[in-house]
Amino acid sequence: MRPTPPHDIPQGIMPPAHPFDADKLREECGIYGVIGLVDAANFVALGLHALQHRGQEAGGIVSYDAETGFNSAHRFGYVRDNFTKAGLMETLPGTLAIGHVRYSTAGTKGHTAIRDVQPFFGEFSMGGAAIAHNGNIVNAEALRRELIDRGSIFQSSSDSECIIHLMARSLQKTIPERMKDALRRVEGAFSVVAMTRTKLIGVRDPLGVRPLVLGRFGGGWVLSSETCALDIIGAEFVREIAPGEMVQISPEKGVESYFPFERTQPRFCIFEHVYFSRPDSILGGRSVYETRHQIGVELAREAPVEADLVCPVPDSGTPAAIGYSFESGIPYGMGIIRNQYMGRTFIEPTEQIRNMGVRLKLNVNRALIEGKRVVLVDDSVVRGTTSRKIKEMILDAGAREVHFRIASPPTAWPCFYGVDTPERDKLLASHMTEDEMRVYLGVDSLRFVSLDGLYRAVGEARGRNAQCPQYCDACFSGDYPVAPSDMIEKGFQTRAAE
Ligand code: SF4
Repeated sequence: MRPTPPHDIPQGIMPPAHPFDADKLREECGIYGVIGLVDAANFVALGLHALQHRGQEAGGIVSYDAETGFNSAHRFGYVRDNFTKAGLMETLPGTLAIGHVRYSTAGTKGHTAIRDVQPFFGEFSMGGAAIAHNGNIVNAEALRRELIDRGSIFQSSSDSECIIHLMARSLQKTIPERMKDALRRVEGAFSVVAMTRTKLIGVRDPLGVRPLVLGRFGGGWVLSSETCALDIIGAEFVREIAPGEMVQISPEKGVESYFPFERTQPRFCIFEHVYFSRPDSILGGRSVYETRHQIGVELAREAPVEADLVCPVPDSGTPAAIGYSFESGIPYGMGIIRNQYMGRTFIEPTEQIRNMGVRLKLNVNRALIEGKRVVLVDDSVVRGTTSRKIKEMILDAGAREVHFRIASPPTAWPCFYGVDTPERDKLLASHMTEDEMRVYLGVDSLRFVSLDGLYRAVGEARGRNAQCPQYCDACFSGDYPVAPSDMIEKGFQTRAAE
């Protein structure tokens, strides 16, 4: 068994992201799969391009073609810089392909090695299988120890590789049955897109923490992390894969649905609504843009302030800022302009440039800001370092007052389900009250939307406790729907244990 087919694997390590990007919670991964379309890898590349916001460090595609078998390519950097070249795409023939974009959340965190780039591949007695995973396995370290003790040889530091090794150990006769066996051993969050020689497979964990949707295009089928990546190829959105569901898709039989896990109350990640998913995606039958707009409305109701201008911290604060302006009647304006072309390579070269920090990415629109009392709407406060710098830029531009309004509750707990979060003591809200944070950030006022307000915005009109609770909101509440067992073994204390 090997983690990838033996094609086209460049060596090396991707450097970590620049620190000014590190003050955000970082999603994680995007996954995509296509069956029944000629040159499926080209569609996968387009889909991954639309999912690039879910991971920019690296990407990979595996395809299958009856003549040449499984083929793969794994690359650092953006999809558009790699998977658009004819020379490379010609090495990925076939009507079946899956792909993955990555921001490392386990394994070599923030420091991707090419061996950690998915999809992973395994050769079994009944044929090969490739797998791409979005989420985090919270018992991966325990599983890894057990598998190594029993003779498995790991080739990457990724938690996702456990799934391939568990499949290899299964005694089931088919790959989908082996995958069911393997995933029953796995705890945590997983949305998976996988392929055999003849089938495209999609799976969501029983809690349904990470998204996965099904689309139809021509005679083919598509699986994607988000609906925005169906739109890019013109595919029709069919439905979400349900929590705990496995779909096996083949051109002959279409979509076959199974529920191999014990049923439980779903707990979809509420932060997907706040920040991770693209605003043009649909989650749970709801437009992400409309939800974010509604968060701004809730925020304006809960935390009004007298001011002259509502500005978003672009881009993720924009819909909530429009909602805040709509509800409060305070004019909306683009007081901060984002440079859309700031890439990783430009910011590498010198310490002096690195120290310019947030100014490289965001610039204040002085003409709009000067002399105004400004409401700044952002999606979250993590460490608070970027928020402080943005406040300074706004004051430097002549603002009279700065009022921060945050479109999520205080982030006080780390995520163990596929989102890169700092350790708990680095999260500002873990050790400061709202007022202490206001003083630390040096702003005139600071308010977060309440957890009930957030639930109302996502459509749960009765708030968080109506069905105790309907989403995963652990990074705000400390209420982890699956115990993070590897971390608890290392001494992490959940709120229940404190
Ligand atoms: S802990 Fe937060 S970011 Fe992680 S899955 Fe739960 S809600 Fe989403």
